[in-house]
Amino acid sequence: MAGSIVLFGPPGAGKGTQATRIVELTGKPQVSTGDMLRAAVSAGTELGIEAKGYMDSGHLVPDQVIIGLIEERLMEPDATNGVLFDGFPRTVPQAEALASITQVSAVISIEVPDGDIVDRIVGRRMDPDTGDIYNISFKPPPPEIEHRLIQRKDDTEETVRNRLETYHEQTEPLGSWYGSRGLLIPVDGCGTIAEVGDAVTSAVINL
Ligand code: AMP
Repeated sequence: MAGSIVLFGPPGAGKGTQATRIVELTGKPQVSTGDMLRAAVSAGTELGIEAKGYMDSGHLVPDQVIIGLIEERLMEPDATNGVLFDGFPRTVPQAEALASITQVSAVISIEVPDGDIVDRIVGRRMDPDTGDIYNISFKPPPPEIEHRLIQRKDDTEETVRNRLETYHEQTEPLGSWYGSRGLLIPVDGCGTIAEVGDAVTSAVINL
């Protein structure tokens, strides 16, 4: 399928987890603005220094910064046939900018109610060696790697509340923006990882 796919949904919906499956199915590279920003923060670049305060407090990094990052990423040779966006766009201005630089063919919206999100995020752990994501309740890590797992700095209960508020105010309206353009495919994000994965797979193969 030509064009890019957007994975849409609240923080903790499982976008990063399900992205792996879509990458396998479509061969499109995953473009996660959150991962790109975290890499910039770790490397201590100018972008990272600017972004860190917003990220740590659960607010959005300014649109111009994000759009510049995406424009640069889409010039890479592996992006020629479209990419899988994860965590982008997050505002209507970002979606408008994206529409002017590339074709979006589908937006897969993983739907999870707020009540489930705090537990998912606070229990989330990442393996820094492989990038694999675990959850102490829903997807426990193998005991032998437990010691090296890390928790994201913004995965605390207080920051999650800000991130959810930011999501409802600035990102959720994008759902109807894409819906009115006939691009939104809702998927129930409340099942097990495998169940949600199956729903995502059938959405992707029917594109
Ligand atoms: P994520 O890993 O997608 O949850 O992103 C972590 C944090 O990075 C967010 O809470 C924002 O502070 C920032 N961020 C990631 N993607 C975007 C975006 N598209 N627009 C603005 N801020 C972003």
